[in-house]
Amino acid sequence: MNDFDVIIIGGGPIGIACGIEAQKRDLCYLIIEKGTIVNSLFNYPEGMTFFSSSDKLELDDIPFISENAKPYKSESLEYYRRIVTSKNLNINLFETVIDVKKEVELYRVKTSRSSYTASKIVVATGFYDIPNKLNIPGEALPKVSHYYKHPHYYSRQRVAIVGASNSAVDAALEIFRKGGHVTMIIRGDKISERVKYWVRPDMINRLEEGNIQVYYNAQIEEISEGEIVVLQHEKEIRIKNDYVLALTGYQPNFDFLQKIGITLSSDGKKKPFYKPETMETDRAGIYLAGVICGGMETHKWFIENSRVHASLIMDSIKTNFKI
Ligand code: FAD
Repeated sequence: MNDFDVIIIGGGPIGIACGIEAQKRDLCYLIIEKGTIVNSLFNYPEGMTFFSSSDKLELDDIPFISENAKPYKSESLEYYRRIVTSKNLNINLFETVIDVKKEVELYRVKTSRSSYTASKIVVATGFYDIPNKLNIPGEALPKVSHYYKHPHYYSRQRVAIVGASNSAVDAALEIFRKGGHVTMIIRGDKISERVKYWVRPDMINRLEEGNIQVYYNAQIEEISEGEIVVLQHEKEIRIKNDYVLALTGYQPNFDFLQKIGITLSSDGKKKPFYKPETMETDRAGIYLAGVICGGMETHKWFIENSRVHASLIMDSIKTNFKI
């Protein structure tokens, strides 16, 4: 069957929440996910601990039981996968949505595998697929990555980490503890205030004792096979280097949003337009859910405060079908 009341693009936590709410309202729905279930979470660093406690990551009041208050990534995969399987959610995996076009009354959704129609569309595609680039020479070298997976790989290696937020700090501490030689390159004059409060003192102590090197008010200008060039206070510093982890954040797929007709704010934040009471965009019948709503401000929305989008959207859609 290829015709639906609603198609949800993205099978992250919030796309799954939308599927649950659609199912509860007897809407004929399909979730289309380009990777595995909760693909972004699957690609997070291996040993990652969430900053949220597990109860704040729950969907539909289904208890999320974790060993500690803040769950590990592995526990979150168990939790969300179990929801999908036990509720038998209608989800197609490893299928990418390429385009959404209006055809008379319906939307046609073109994917990497097929084509579907739906009255309503929910875009819940998150922000983890497109890293914020450094845009410097050498960024395309294989030694440079915008994603960090596991510290073991970097043992006895000289690793430069660009960034000052949670991802950068977690990676720096883990790699240092597995015997990597870590240098942090930080654009501002301190690590971010948003770093997890229980991790922050550990990081500051390692920096102060000099076990992790740091260059504040600095940026990498160039990367080559054996070194990086850092600019600090208008002075160029050459540092021997094996790997660069550019953990400078990610951004939603703005091209996709614009292609399907959603207006973005012109103030540099590229905030997509939507009505907060229903989450419907300026393209009638297309809704936004989850972290994508923040535009460039990717820290504004997270699971805890965006899981509510699912019921707002499905209430609006259900009401629409009743009229
Ligand atoms: P995502 O989880 O990103 O899901 C979007 C999905 O859409 C992905 O699975 C993607 O593969 C899919 N997709 C994208 N494009 C397409 C397409 N064209 N076709 C089909 N599918 C597509 N938030 C918290 O609340 N608490 C935390 O502790 C927390 N820790 C974090 C730690 C890290 C390292 C990072 C990077 C983020 C963290 N976040 C945390 C933020 C968290 O990622 C989001 O809150 C959560 O993933 C948002 O869910 P989402 O469903 O909106 O987006």
